[in-house]
Amino acid sequence: MNREDLQGQWPCVQWFANEMQRELNANQHKNGWETLSYRWMLNRLRQEIGELERAVEMRKDVVSEAADVANFAMMIADNFLCKKENSEDA
Ligand SMILES: [Mg+2]
Repeated sequence: MNREDLQGQWPCVQWFANEMQRELNANQHKNGWETLSYRWMLNRLRQEIGELERAVEMRKDVVSEAADVANFAMMIADNFLCKKENSEDA
């Protein structure tokens, strides 16, 4: 999908969300993230930041590595939101 084809106030965010989904789909064989600990996810986020730093240095795979970083941040936020909602239900 071309960035120019996207609607809305922040076309780059919509474009990037699509890149995040592409990475998630490529890892569909893995389980979801609802049972993962914050500690584990934060460690993976740091690893992915390292991969992104190397990708920028090499000028290669920058978009997919940035999407990996964003996906681990999204998983942390999603788990936080779900746990908050569940604790408010209880
Ligand atoms: Mg990666």
